[in-house]
Amino acid sequence: MTTPLNPLSSHQYWESLRSQGFCLPQCQACKEFHFYLRPACPACGSLDIKPVVTSGRGSVYSFSIVYRAPSAAFEKDVPYVVAIVATDEGPHLMTRLIKVKPEEVSVGMRVLVNGWRTRDEPTERASEGVAPPLFEPEPS
Ligand SMILES: [Zn+2]
Repeated sequence: MTTPLNPLSSHQYWESLRSQGFCLPQCQACKEFHFYLRPACPACGSLDIKPVVTSGRGSVYSFSIVYRAPSAAFEKDVPYVVAIVATDEGPHLMTRLIKVKPEEVSVGMRVLVNGWRTRDEPTERASEGVAPPLFEPEPS
């Protein structure tokens, strides 16, 4: 039997998303956040990586408006916005933006994760995070 280099497996990460809230992998040695999951910290090489609940906040780094559905399952959604969100903790995530008209999206726009418990969101207000992490405009 082989032992994985990093004890934080993809399954464990997704389980922590479900049970704890919107987490990102954080190196416990240097405290850097990173995403996607890697076998070692990209900043210092440590194998001590744990999922840590984050603010769930960030800003739009880049985006694209999808007008043509890639399959029948998305036909009801077009046009929709696929975005790269730069989280306040550092890592960039590819996601979809919801609760916003595509023409209202701009680079630098503040966003927050929708429907997930976060460090700033009381448990009783957010869902259990059963849906993929999607982002919406931050209330101003
Ligand atoms: Zn590190």
